[in-house]
Amino acid sequence: DYGNGGYYPVKNGQILNKRYEVQKMLGNGHFAIVHMAEDRMTESTVAVKIAKSDRRYAKPSEMEIKFMERIKEVTKSNSSSPGSKNIVKLLDDFRIKGKEGIHVVMVFEVLCMDLDRLLFESNQQVLTLDRIRKFSKNILEGLLFLHTKCKIMHLDIKPENCLVKVDPHNMDLSDPSCNASLKIGDFGTSAWITDNIKGKTQTCHYRAPEAFLEANVSPLVDVWSVGCVLYEMITRDLLFLCNEEGGDCKSKLHFGYISEMLGPIRTRFFKKDERNTVFFDEVFGKEKVFVKEFAEPNPISPEELMKKYSMTMSEADELCGFMRELMVINPNQRLSAKEALKHPFLN
Ligand code: ATP
Ligand code: MG
Ligand code: MG
Repeated sequence: DYGNGGYYPVKNGQILNKRYEVQKMLGNGHFAIVHMAEDRMTESTVAVKIAKSDRRYAKPSEMEIKFMERIKEVTKSNSSSPGSKNIVKLLDDFRIKGKEGIHVVMVFEVLCMDLDRLLFESNQQVLTLDRIRKFSKNILEGLLFLHTKCKIMHLDIKPENCLVKVDPHNMDLSDPSCNASLKIGDFGTSAWITDNIKGKTQTCHYRAPEAFLEANVSPLVDVWSVGCVLYEMITRDLLFLCNEEGGDCKSKLHFGYISEMLGPIRTRFFKKDERNTVFFDEVFGKEKVFVKEFAEPNPISPEELMKKYSMTMSEADELCGFMRELMVINPNQRLSAKEALKHPFLN
């Protein structure tokens, strides 16, 4: 994906902006490639995110910088806000000219790996229930700060965008005393809360019902995604499989899964003047409720969770209750990040 408005090709050892010496690739996404680099000025290691050059990618990157700058500003004036440390730090930004056009480059603090890789590579010994509790708390604290202090909705909470920070003095994650935490990264598709946007935000598997329905989205869509990520940390399975066809998720099928697991979806949950009528009618038809009874055992039940993760019945009960409150279909009844942080599962 290097030609035609795509990624910027770099070789290890190449120096960017007379300062950052590329060492190795850390990861990539739809918008950019991220490399580990040595900052020759500060003699420290950083992560350099180079966006694709096409306008479709350059513009979100310029926005990403704006969001990171707001976060930096708010952090300065709220030194006591605990959640600000759960957001990845932007250190620098510049532009480079490639064959295909201009690439926006962002320099971040470097972290160990993303949560998706950790899920893939680790086991229950690494992802203990205590660590899962802590990681959930880290994401929610980061979101609380974003939502209330910065007035930003992230809109793409998923394991690939949660970065694992490990104590450099003890990097052995299978050691329970190793101090690891999560930071939220990738603000490439975020939005200001005050922009009152509607539409299909988020990555399909982690998308909240109101976003599927193209109704107005609020910060509560991020909380929905946290529920999906929590399920994945416990089971290593996706909660909702997506049927992508031509890049689009077959929403009606996905709605079936949501309704099967979490209950009936009623039109009155979503304000009439805030939704895309055409799409809404397509899903609900003439019905006022969208219900699908579950034939299989419900994956969000204490019994099913216990089949996938060793824990006591009371732990499973509490966990299941928590997930269900993060994924209440009616956004008005879903927990906010602030309320979620008070839940007994986290305390
Ligand atoms: P998406 O397709 O989700 O929009 P993207 O193209 O915007 O992704 P990022 O999510 O910012 O790109 O980064 C891609 C990957 O690079 C991450 O999933 C992660 O594996 C790695 N990565 C990003 N930032 C860092 C960092 N600061 N430290 C270590 N690895 C990182
Ligand atoms: Mg990403
Ligand atoms: Mg992104």
